[in-house]
Parts: sequence; C-alpha cells; structure tokens
Amino acid sequence: MDYKFPWQQDWNRVKKAALKNLTSRFPNPSEDLTRTTLNQLPGIDRRTTFAFESVEQARAAFAGEIAADIYLRLTNPTIRELENMLTLLEARHFCGNLAVPDLPTKLGESPVKSLCFSCGMAAISHTLLALLNKGDTIITDQVLYGCTDNLFNTEFQVSKGINVVEINAEKLDEVEQAFNDNPDAKLIYFETPSNPTLGIKDIGAIAEIADRHNALVIVDNTFATPCLQNPLRLGADIVVHSLTKYINGHGDALGGSVTGPAQFIDGNDSGGLFYARRLYGGVMDPAQALGILRGIVSLPLRMEKHCDNAERVVSFLKTHPKVESVYFPGLETGNIAERQMRRFGGMVAFEIDANLEQTAKAINQVVEQEIGYIAVSLGLPYTLYDHPAGMTHYFVEPEQRVKKGITDTLIRLSIGLEDPERIINSIGNILEHAK
Ligand code: PLP
Repeated sequence: MDYKFPWQQDWNRVKKAALKNLTSRFPNPSEDLTRTTLNQLPGIDRRTTFAFESVEQARAAFAGEIAADIYLRLTNPTIRELENMLTLLEARHFCGNLAVPDLPTKLGESPVKSLCFSCGMAAISHTLLALLNKGDTIITDQVLYGCTDNLFNTEFQVSKGINVVEINAEKLDEVEQAFNDNPDAKLIYFETPSNPTLGIKDIGAIAEIADRHNALVIVDNTFATPCLQNPLRLGADIVVHSLTKYINGHGDALGGSVTGPAQFIDGNDSGGLFYARRLYGGVMDPAQALGILRGIVSLPLRMEKHCDNAERVVSFLKTHPKVESVYFPGLETGNIAERQMRRFGGMVAFEIDANLEQTAKAINQVVEQEIGYIAVSLGLPYTLYDHPAGMTHYFVEPEQRVKKGITDTLIRLSIGLEDPERIINSIGNILEHAK
C-alpha cells in the first residue's frame, strides 16, 4: 500500500529503530526537567521582528540556509525553549545518547520536533489543516473534548468536505473494521484518557493496525501529560497537547503543542506544520511560553499529588450510595491503562441517579463548600467541577452526547492539589444534597 505522506517512509524506519532500542516504557521526566531547566532558565524575548546585517543574510534565513529568527509569527527564542522541552519530555527515546545538558542545543538534529500554538485547539486544527485535503477520510474516536468534536463533525465533515468516520476506538475490532472499510483513511485521532468519560485506548495496538494501513496515529495526551504516558514510545506518530491544562498547571497561560516527525513539524511547504502555522497564524505569545515553561518545572511533583488525591476521591465515590457509576482509568487492575500509563491522572467522572436539572442543582452546591469551583478547564491547583452536558460538551448535539456515553448526569472532576480529606468532605456534602 502506498504511503500517504511524502515523509512517511523515512519516518517509519526511524520510528521502528527508536522503538526497538527502548529500554523502558516510562522515562523519568524529573531528571530531564531539573537538569535542563536549571541550566537554561530562559528570559522572555518579546521582539516581533529581528534585524539582519544585509538583505543577503535575510534572504538566506528565508531560504532556510542559515538558522535565524525572522519574525515572531515564524519563530521566537522563548517559544523554541518550550518546544525543545516538550520534545525532550515526549520523545526522549529519539534523542539518542546525547548527554542531557547538551540536548537543547542538539535538538536541531532530532528526528522528532515540537511546535507550539496559541492554544490546544490551534495545535489540533493546524495539524489537521496541514495534513488533510478536501475529500480525505479520517477515523476518530467518538468521545472527544467538545470543541474537537465540533471541529471534526461540524466544521471538517459538514463544511470542509472531510469524511469523518467515528468509531469506538476502545474496541480494536472497530478500529480494524474502520480501516478495512476505508483503506484510504489518512489517520486515526483519539484522546486517552478521553474527555470527559476517561475511556482508555490501547495506543500500541491501534498503532499496529494503523501502521498496516500506512495511516498516522495522532493522540491528544492532555489528560495524561508526558509524566504519565508517552504515546510516541507506544507507536503513535504525533502527540498534541493543550498546554493550558496540567503542563502549565496554574490556570494562567494558554497554549498548545504538537510533537511529531521533524519532516512534518519543520515542513515549510504545503503539507508541513511550520508552513500551516506561518499561514494560518495560530502562534503562541512568548509570555505564555515563559509561564508554561515555569509550570513544567513542577509538573512531575504536581502530577504525583493529583494522582494521589484522585485515587482517594475514587475510593470514596465507589462506595457512596448516591453514586451510580465512577469513571477512572485505574478502576480495574490488569487493564490497558495499567500497561500504558505510569499512574492514572487527576481526572475523575461519575454519575448520580438524577436528571439534568437535578445534576446541575447538586453541582451548584459547590459554591457553598470549602473546596471546589464550577469551571471548565482542568489541571489547575484547585478542584474544578464540570457538568459536560451543560458546559464543556454543551455544543455536542444532545442525541450524539447520549450515544457517546456523555449522559446528562455525568459530573467531571479535575481533582486539585488541596488536602484530600477536605476535597472528599466537600464532595460528600454535595452528594448529601443530590436527589
Ligand atoms: N484537548 C483536550 C483533551 C481538552 O480538554 C482541551 C480543552 O479543554 C483542548 C484539547 C483544547 O485546549 P485549549 O483550551 O488550550 O484550546
């Protein structure tokens, strides 16, 4: 079967070689972070344009013959620091045996690179705009963040002539069938864990199927972060993040990133991601890059605490008489999450025996409690309550929502860094008021 992208054959060879040499599924992000960031705390570079010594020098920069910053919409030193850091975190296994302190300077040669965007949605939309043309087919999981769902099913499918085949990617036979039915499908896109129902997809098994069909695997790794899961180590081709969430971790910076094959990421012709960012312009603000870089330093520490707290909350919810069902990747032992995630993250969802209005009323009790806010977003230090049917997934058609398992009584929690007893106490008080 023909390759679907010009760089795919080279990339497959590099990817297979890197996966063969893997010694562990889970790298230690703390080590990379402390050793690189301490040596290299960046300053913020706010320049929108960069001066050249001559037109000839500028032309060489435009031609890619010399590496030089030209204009903020193209590249910027502060954003590049963040991009290098994300490459390191998601794709350490492609960086060979370079000494850790040397990596930021040597990453120019890495077969995997990252680009940052103004937000997670910009990262996702630029990636797909770069890869797809009118009439192309893609396969997607049925449960996605509400705006990603809208982007695929409304914007791409209805308005832009892309054929979107939606399946339950938790079921490998559905994945296989979708590729058999659509041999031209260019890629499969999914989240794991997914927003908001926390479904887990087997990244390695899906990559094996997609590879046989020469299709790309794109994973939104926002919920897990590179501390808990590295899709590229499991065979995925491209990883996207909303950096706005755990990676920034403080609720004060907006950003998105894409990490993947350097030929795609750096590509400065139609089909390349750098080209797409240059033309569509979803560029990150350097001030946001600095905030996110600062957030990353404490990411491993914060993720441990988010995981500890979420596990405590799940134990409480599992036995609560008013809770009908709990969704959390670590609920059962021996499952896929246990194999592909280092720990299970800070996101928890549950359903109560109520209708939409009664669920909203129960959540409204949060404002009376010591801990928690009613708010979208996630990965902040504070516990956040989301009612997907009325908030993050409001724009997904109600019948579609139900089909996808996003029920009217689903409550999504982003468990914060507070004292777990106080978080549980507040949830308990809210449940007291539930029907
Ligand atoms: N991906 C996931 C899983 C999300 O939850 C979100 C936002 O909530 C996004 C992408 C979009 O990110 P942003 O809000 O930074 O555009």
